Amino acid sequence: MSKASSEVTAFMQGLEKRNPGEPEFHQAVHEFIQSVMPYTLDNPAYRRAQILERMTEPDRIIIFRVTWEDDEGNIRANRAWRVQFNNSIGAYKGGLRFHPGVTLSVLKFLGFEQTFKNSLTGLPMGGAKGGSNFNPKGKSDREVMRFCQALMTELHKHIGEDRDVPAGDIGVGSREISFLFGQYKRLENRFVGTLTGKGLAFGGSLGRTEATGYGSVYFCQNMLGHIGDSIEDKTCVISGSGNVAIYTAEKALELGGKVVTLSDSSGFVHDPDGFSEDKIAFIKDLKEVRRGRISEYAEKYKSASYHEGEKPWGVPCDIAFPSATQNELSLDDAKTLIRNGVCAVSEGANMPTELEAAHAFIEADVLFGPSKAANAGGVAVSGLEQSQNAQRLVWSRKEVDDRLKSIMEDIHKKCVAYGSSGGNKKGSVNYVDGANIGGFIKVADAMLAYGAV
Ligand code: NAP
Repeated sequence: MSKASSEVTAFMQGLEKRNPGEPEFHQAVHEFIQSVMPYTLDNPAYRRAQILERMTEPDRIIIFRVTWEDDEGNIRANRAWRVQFNNSIGAYKGGLRFHPGVTLSVLKFLGFEQTFKNSLTGLPMGGAKGGSNFNPKGKSDREVMRFCQALMTELHKHIGEDRDVPAGDIGVGSREISFLFGQYKRLENRFVGTLTGKGLAFGGSLGRTEATGYGSVYFCQNMLGHIGDSIEDKTCVISGSGNVAIYTAEKALELGGKVVTLSDSSGFVHDPDGFSEDKIAFIKDLKEVRRGRISEYAEKYKSASYHEGEKPWGVPCDIAFPSATQNELSLDDAKTLIRNGVCAVSEGANMPTELEAAHAFIEADVLFGPSKAANAGGVAVSGLEQSQNAQRLVWSRKEVDDRLKSIMEDIHKKCVAYGSSGGNKKGSVNYVDGANIGGFIKVADAMLAYGAV
């Protein structure tokens, strides 16, 4: 066993002992440490200062009860968290997730990843994540409003434009951000950019809604461009049909790709004719306005079939965009995609690919864009929303999109700079190593500079 491998094993044993019952957090740290450990062994100042041990411990975690009243007048209670992971390079920044599957482990993995993703963007943002096990599905607008107001009644004490700036994530879209910001503003009696993803009428940025999906496609375009290829005429398989998936489909289509699947937690739709602009407009209305199920797409368009309880990875494609949730793409799924000739995978969701599956892609020389890099466009434009709020200015859609493109290009360059020696074949890039080391250095150097804090 190499020195780096034995150090990784020992490190993970300690981490798992200190954080029992947190499998998602262990997984995220394991992936990161595998890339970064060899780098820290070559640069002993990081080891001497216990940077990895300190980086894997959140600055603080706030846990609180959210009590609210449903439409029948019953009192309901949920648990909520804010994990303020690391503010070495800027105020905490990261989304809020409302989903019954939310646990502390999920939020710690997300907050940890967020720290390095935010660093990769080049903007001054620390890492955080929060949310609740509240399930917005099947709740009325008024119930969602009461829940958001109750949550913010506690959360507002811990956030602020220079302290911690939450945004959306699974289950938290423009409706929820509006309710949360309305309550924040009422409690604080200040109009400041403490949340991002706000409506355009009250401090939101043009292009923020589209940013994560568009950014994931731009990142993929950069990976393909690096080997002299492009998205044009490529068949694309996308999972999810939420914010990230919809705008991934829209941009992939615009760049000449053919998108043939979308999904939700019940199943996927396969449209061999591809999703046109009109069909994507139907999905936007279905998911964003009517809050319906993806199966309704196959009822409307006869070219499509619906596959209940299945994932889309068996559909032959050139590019896969996993854009729903964590661990939605297993080793078996990866083997199927590789057998069917996939050439690129760009992670729109956070950690959608299991660790063994990611290794299989890298081993097979599939261009594999990890979430830290590939989906950083969302938080990058959130950062741009903060800049606009602070300046009391509104930038044009073009200005925001140009900046997004250039940020995704810079992230790609960092991945190439730090991942070029780790590819399977001579000259190929290991984007996982590149993103992990590229994100690590700035945070680690700031922590070193601060001394023992
Ligand atoms: P969203 O709008 O709430 O959509 C989530 C989508 O994923 C829905 O289609 C949902 O289907 C599906 N899904 C959720 N849980 C699932 C599960 N357990 N199994 C299968 N499908 C599931 O959320 P989003 O903002 O698009 O976020 C999607 C992913 O991108 C998440 O990993 C998130 O952390 C990541 N991300 C988002 C942003 C952003 O700006 N929004 C930025 C960076 C990363 P149902 O409707 O059936 O639940």
